[in-house]
Amino acid sequence: MDDSYKHQGLRKLLIESIRTKGIKDANVLSAMEKVPRHIFFDSSFLNFAYEDKPFPIGAGQTISQPYTVAFQTELLQVRSGDRILEIGTGSGYQACILAEMGAKVFTIERQRSLFDKAVKVLPTLGYTIKTFYGDGYKGLPAFAPFDKILVTAGAPFIPDPLIKQLKTGGILVIPVGASDIQIMTTITKTGENQYQKREHGTFRFVPLLGNKAMD
Ligand code: SAH
Repeated sequence: MDDSYKHQGLRKLLIESIRTKGIKDANVLSAMEKVPRHIFFDSSFLNFAYEDKPFPIGAGQTISQPYTVAFQTELLQVRSGDRILEIGTGSGYQACILAEMGAKVFTIERQRSLFDKAVKVLPTLGYTIKTFYGDGYKGLPAFAPFDKILVTAGAPFIPDPLIKQLKTGGILVIPVGASDIQIMTTITKTGENQYQKREHGTFRFVPLLGNKAMD
């Protein structure tokens, strides 16, 4: 893996700017300072890797804006050892941030080409992340319950299976909205059948899509 001083320097500046924009969780910032985002970019686009912007990763999808990655990760309140389910592997960058923070990461992707690419790149970065090809609306019942669940695509509604797969005390972070703007939402499972919902402003994600067979 080629992580030059130039890339490390650009990454430091990016993390500084994210801190200025209001991210306070030191563990989030230090994980983002460690994981090389440029590895997820094709070589001709390396210059874009350390801008605070989303970027196309193929199949009509994007790697999320670094600030958005930081914001969602901060809301997850990640603790080392947490079992975390991510819906929407995409490039695999967000999964690496969670793994760098000591989480046991399970991630689901519904686009075959992106899934195949992530399966190849993740081990080269030294992370053990469990990758699944499938429909994130269903979660991963065989591996539930999870301490945290993170949805990285815009969901028209909150899928029931995801709520069911949370541990008590667990947190679901999900951008909710049927249009191209979503409200960042957290659901905390406070008791066997008790949930607390909070909203955290608007964001723009690519949509969480339905069953692949229905495309
Ligand atoms: N977390 C990613 C960015 C994700 S973009 C990263 O760090 O790069 C959103 C991803 O969600 C896309 O790759 C898209 O294909 C995927 N997606 C959309 N609907 C899905 C579904 N129902 N199940 C699983 N993945 C889905």
